[in-house]
Amino acid sequence: MLEVGGLTVTLHGITILRSVTLTIEPGRIVGLIGRNGAGKTTTLRAIMGLTRAASGRLALEGEDLSGLPPHLRARLGIGYVPEDRRLISALSARENILVPAWAGGLADAEARLDGVYTLMPELRELAARPAALLSGGQQKLVALARSFMYGSRVLLLDEPFEGVAPPLARRLVRAVREFQEHRPGLSVLVAESEVKWVRLLTDKIYSIERGTTAEVPAPTP
Ligand code: ATP
Repeated sequence: MLEVGGLTVTLHGITILRSVTLTIEPGRIVGLIGRNGAGKTTTLRAIMGLTRAASGRLALEGEDLSGLPPHLRARLGIGYVPEDRRLISALSARENILVPAWAGGLADAEARLDGVYTLMPELRELAARPAALLSGGQQKLVALARSFMYGSRVLLLDEPFEGVAPPLARRLVRAVREFQEHRPGLSVLVAESEVKWVRLLTDKIYSIERGTTAEVPAPTP
C-alpha cells in the first residue's frame, strides 16, 4: 500500500502542493486527474523523491520513504515514467531501458529485460534503434518498459496518454494491465489531464486542483 498524506511542496517560495492525500492499495490502479499546472507532475516527483516535500507522510507498506533519495526509492520497487520521457537520444532503445538498471547495479537486469520483451515484443525489434530515431509513440513504449525494470511494487505514470493516438493508448492500457498480472501486488498511479483512457484502467480516481486532491466518487453502474 502506498500512502501519501498531507503532502506539501514549496518551490521558490510558492506553495505548489497543499495537502496532497491519496492511497493506493496493493494490486490497485489509481488515477490522478487535473488540468495543466494542477500539480500532477510535482506529486509524482515528490513520491519519487525528485522534489523535496516540505511536510507530509509518504509510506510504502508502512515504511517511511520521506528521507530516501530517488535511487533508493527505485530500489524498493518504484518505477517512474516522467512526462517528457527523458530518453537519451544517442543510446539505443535497449540501452535506454537498461540504463537505470546498470546505474543501480541490478544483478538480474537481462532477465528483467527478457520479461519486459515478453510483454512488449515490438521492443525487441526496436532494440538497436537509437532513441532519436524512434517515433513519439515508440518512445512512450520504451519509457514504460524502462519503468517496468524497477516497478515491482509501484508504478508512477505521468501523462502516458497525452498526445497519443487511440491504437497506441489501447496498447499502453494493455501493457500496464498485463504487467500488473505478473506483479499481483503492484500499485499504479496514473496522472492525466483527461479521465478518458484512465477510466479503462480504474474507477478509483482522485482529482487535483491547485495542488489539493480529492477522491472522486466512482460512477454508479
Ligand atoms: P502539466 O501537465 O502542465 O505538467 P501538472 O499538473 O503536472 O501540469 P506541475 O508540473 O506539477 O503540474 O506544476 C504545478 C505548478 O507548479 C504549476 O503552476 C507550475 O508552474 C509550478 N511549478 C512546477 N515546477 C516548478 C518549479 N521548478 N518552480 C516553480 N514553480 C514550479
